[in-house]
Amino acid sequence: MGKRGILLVVSGFSGAGKGTLMKELVKRYENYALSISATTRSPREGEADGREYFFKSVEEFERMIAEDALIEYACYVGNYYGTPRAYVEEQLSRGRDVILEIEIQGARKVKKRFPNTLLLFVSPPSAEVLKARLTGRGTETSEVIAQRLARAAEEAEGMEDYDYFVVNDLLEECVEQVHRIVEGERSRVFRNKERMEAIRAELKEFQKG
Ligand code: ADP
Ligand code: 5GP
Repeated sequence: MGKRGILLVVSGFSGAGKGTLMKELVKRYENYALSISATTRSPREGEADGREYFFKSVEEFERMIAEDALIEYACYVGNYYGTPRAYVEEQLSRGRDVILEIEIQGARKVKKRFPNTLLLFVSPPSAEVLKARLTGRGTETSEVIAQRLARAAEEAEGMEDYDYFVVNDLLEECVEQVHRIVEGERSRVFRNKERMEAIRAELKEFQKG
């Protein structure tokens, strides 16, 4: 049996740069597979169905919930967001590291269900920078930006639940930092049980002479 990939959950305030970071990570390294979520929010300009998200009606989304087709789902600023199960399971079993870019309620659900999940929180260097990035992205009205900033203050209370906290200041550096974290994670004892058993068995053979 091949080695299973790492399930990586990435959260962070809206506008922190998660999407930008993850796209860059996937572009640079082959071991990652980026899960595409389903959502009931409308596509932003430049977003395509099946690329950034699977855009669904509320009815369609609720059917996915009923059919247990989602690993987790949550409501965020008035819309449903959820992670389709099939892709994640398939990629993990192929040994790829699967990235879920999801908000904090979803992150907690995934960790509970799959305790080996690596949880990473992405922060901007400051609240000022966050606001500037959200505004600069130009994809939301000032009203929605205000809601997202209010939500950020709530989410900031949950940062301690994560395994790693990274600051997305210089994109280049942050991408490399995230990659090093995942690479380091591979050496954790609990992820190497088979290898440890193998060397143990080989050493026992030596003892037999
Ligand atoms: P999120 O997915 O966390 O909501 P985005 O990836 O959409 O955030 O990034 C929000 C805005 O900030 C985008 O306009 C993006 O180009 C910009 N951005 C992301 N990372 C950086 C960075 N390290 N430095 C400067 N701007 C950034
Ligand atoms: P946006 O509307 O900016 O694309 O995403 C809003 C928030 O929803 C972000 O924090 C994003 O990480 C989160 N999100 C995206 N997909 C999912 C998902 O499948 N499940 C959960 N719980 N959150 C998600």
